[in-house]
Amino acid sequence: MKYRQVEDPLKLIWPKFPSGYVWRSGNKGDKERYLMPSNPNEQPMGYEPLLQYTGLFRDFSELSLTEDAFRDFANSYGLLGLAHDVNRPHLLAESSFEWNDSVLRMRPLVALWRAIQTGNTHALASIGKWKDGEFLYEVGDSVRSGSQWFVPESGVIQSYELKNSGVAPGDIISAARQVLQRLVNRQLRVFPTLPALLFDREGKLRLFMQPQSLGSALWIQFSQAISENHTLRECSVCNHWFQVGGASGKRADAETCSPKCRQAKHRADLKGNARKARAKSRRQK
Ligand SMILES: [Zn+2]
Repeated sequence: MKYRQVEDPLKLIWPKFPSGYVWRSGNKGDKERYLMPSNPNEQPMGYEPLLQYTGLFRDFSELSLTEDAFRDFANSYGLLGLAHDVNRPHLLAESSFEWNDSVLRMRPLVALWRAIQTGNTHALASIGKWKDGEFLYEVGDSVRSGSQWFVPESGVIQSYELKNSGVAPGDIISAARQVLQRLVNRQLRVFPTLPALLFDREGKLRLFMQPQSLGSALWIQFSQAISENHTLRECSVCNHWFQVGGASGKRADAETCSPKCRQAKHRADLKGNARKARAKSRRQK
């Protein structure tokens, strides 16, 4: 049986400004800082984040909480689109609070997912515990950034929810999976992905699922990674995360994320080998 080659059902073309982004202070009396295009009059260019960067959510989750790190991310991928209309995504600026908050919501959930994936019960014991047939959790740390405090997400998975999903009392991995599900679903509602008729590569209208912003793309990509148990690797050249194995089309032992990085690694290897050879010949003299 021959399968038709179809495009990924998820599709987002997201704008970024070629001249990049800058932080500016808000109006008088507003202590917040805002990230915005440095030249809002230029034409943004579109790219497909989900197609090009298969581990972008993990890069995002690891951003350091600094204006520089956020700006560099925006320079590469555009704004998150936190309050935006998908048809006019570049009109608004995004605050420092919103960026901190977005990273700090994703980071502990990626760590939680990793702990579940690797069966790290020690790490899982630090996010929650069983008590009287319920599971109490607290995900994330209290983090201070500037004058703002960010607090962990805490709550209870009740015994009937656990029972309905067939989680045996005391099973911390399955209980942690419930926590992950709940908190990721919460973000999927904040950052929605909706059905939309879009043009495919052949110029035909087709039904796609369209993340409504870059933030939505990050959360749907993370959700896909959870659902399909993706394996991610860190590129040895650019240090970005990318998916290997499965449907990614990349070998499980791939060291580089893209043809560009593969070539850079190849050139560096050649140089390294030449240097080694020179050192060897010097020693022999
Ligand atoms: Zn790379």
